[in-house]
Amino acid sequence: MSIKRYLLSIGLIGLLAPALWSLSLSAQRPVVDDEALKAANNRPGEWLTHGRTQDEQRFSPLEKISDLNVQQLRLAWTFDTGTDRVLEATPLVVDGVMYTTASWGIVFALDAKTGKQLWKWDPKVDPRYERFACCDVVNRGVAFYKGRVYAAAFDGRLTALDAKTGEVVWSVVTVDQTKAYTITAAPRVVKGRVIIGNGGAEYGIRGYISAYNAENGNLDWRFYTVPGDPAQPQEHPELEKAKATWSGDKWWIYGGGGTAWDSMAYDPALNLIYVGTGNGGPWNRFIRSPGGGDNLYLSSILALNPDTGRMAWYYQTTPGDSWDYNATQHIILADVRIRGTVRQVLMQAPKNGFFYMLDRKTGELISAEKYVEVTWATGVDMQTGRPKEKEGADYIRQPFLARPAPLGGHNWQPMSYSPKTGLVYIPTQDNAREYSQPENFEFVPNRINLAAGTGGIDHAGDSKAVYTGRLLAWDPIAQQVRWKVEYPAYWNGGTLATAGNLVFQGTAAGDFIAYRATDGARLWSAWTGTGVLAAPITYEIDGQQYVSVMAGWGGAFVPRYRSKGLLYTFALNGSEPAPVRPAQTTAVAPIEFQATAEQIASGGALFEAQCARCHNAGTTAPDLRRLAPVTYDALPNILQKGALAGRGMPPFRITDAEVAALRAFLLAERRKLR
Ligand code: CA
Repeated sequence: MSIKRYLLSIGLIGLLAPALWSLSLSAQRPVVDDEALKAANNRPGEWLTHGRTQDEQRFSPLEKISDLNVQQLRLAWTFDTGTDRVLEATPLVVDGVMYTTASWGIVFALDAKTGKQLWKWDPKVDPRYERFACCDVVNRGVAFYKGRVYAAAFDGRLTALDAKTGEVVWSVVTVDQTKAYTITAAPRVVKGRVIIGNGGAEYGIRGYISAYNAENGNLDWRFYTVPGDPAQPQEHPELEKAKATWSGDKWWIYGGGGTAWDSMAYDPALNLIYVGTGNGGPWNRFIRSPGGGDNLYLSSILALNPDTGRMAWYYQTTPGDSWDYNATQHIILADVRIRGTVRQVLMQAPKNGFFYMLDRKTGELISAEKYVEVTWATGVDMQTGRPKEKEGADYIRQPFLARPAPLGGHNWQPMSYSPKTGLVYIPTQDNAREYSQPENFEFVPNRINLAAGTGGIDHAGDSKAVYTGRLLAWDPIAQQVRWKVEYPAYWNGGTLATAGNLVFQGTAAGDFIAYRATDGARLWSAWTGTGVLAAPITYEIDGQQYVSVMAGWGGAFVPRYRSKGLLYTFALNGSEPAPVRPAQTTAVAPIEFQATAEQIASGGALFEAQCARCHNAGTTAPDLRRLAPVTYDALPNILQKGALAGRGMPPFRITDAEVAALRAFLLAERRKLR
């Protein structure tokens, strides 16, 4: 007798049917709980958490799209977010639905197969918050847990949304909104707690990480990354130790910084979450902490117990940081074999230019080597774990040209790790900045307070530096480059590694590219029409593998750059061919002009210092040699009065003579195109 017939015979089927039905439902729609997140690798068709798995490797076991067939990858669908600001989010895919974010923290739920919008939630952030945006009003994505989507808005709110409807379940303000706190990170959920940090170290704030009860939004714990007013009791014991590493009588008024504005990873076996902290506020250590000191826990990797918020260990990458060398960059956990022994490691390539491998159980430094050119330190002392800082790098007596600059050898753009190749794929860049003591410093709350150089966070005026980008395939055990791809521009996108022997990356120039993971051969590319910063993802529905990436350029490099914010999804059975880059016009008609060689040369210097960072050949900003003739006549209006400010071209403080010199240089360059 079958079970069904037996149950019928005893009249129980009617009672059990609802239970059986819900069982089969839950088999079709598995929940995303702690067990599921811990075993996210067992659901390869989905992308359940920010870095796909809690170790944040950004490696997908999917291999239907591979180095053998990626040339046939086609466009499946695009989605227009309706925004024109930079996009930095990593989408999640849960049970056929894609959850992603755009500027300010606007959340979208899309049918992951078709791109059709299911719902949209706009946190309606007061646009005046933009004044606290160092690097545009960005957002890097959401967390998913037990049928809810957790999203942080730019103004510091954390909100739980019903994943089916987008309706608000609860919403809390995680910051003092009278101060310049912002949130740009994706939350993570660990054991029923939503973990979130904040940003704004340059604006005079004190960083912290909070854990909210996922069910009701109650605050469970908060870990401050820097000590508060030393006359007051510190909030938790770790700050007593930190307090002794600060000096002077103002750091707590300046805020101190140390903001945890992006990276997190979780090891469920060790029950530790790893959080990267940012630079000091202000940057200059002698103004922030005049008597010196390491200024814990700036620019550090913190290992915290997710139940209590208590710290297990910390590793400070840049003690007494004076250069904006955040350690908020992507953290990857992996188990790797080193000299015959499997080690549980944590890897990070922070802004300071060193690639670190730590023992993630103890925080012990295993190795650290330069992954880009580094001028501020000669290496890392393996005994003490401290960088060997170069004489004069602190710029106390004279200016110092440091590499990397505040944009970092690697910034927030996620890297990825393939356990198959054993390589870490890092979006890196060369940049330099001359740091110097300010003539005077006065702290202004809620404004940028660097106390270094001439203000601003870019490299304008520094013509000694070369600015290029590079994709590095880094062997983390040997601490060596295995292969690399050079880009003409820096500020390129995050990476994705797949079991199909592929690495995907978008570039500042608007190309979305697939490389062979083993040797870096360029196998395929699509044109997105705008620069790409976000990291791609891959997922599978009904046997079809998809690759998605958000395209929309800007951020810290060019905060007000306007570009259409799109989401591209590719598949082998896509309905359209992958878009191709429009052919460059090879020649344009020359325009007559009169100028001296000196004028052209000074225009060239101006171009290098002020224009090249957006308008060089490697980005999507217009090629200034190929403008319509009338535009050259409009240069005074554009440059001095901001005639094209609405299209992302800001006005500059520039004299008539400089405009004329720049025009002469551009027309001379145009003539060379023939
Ligand atoms: Ca910073």
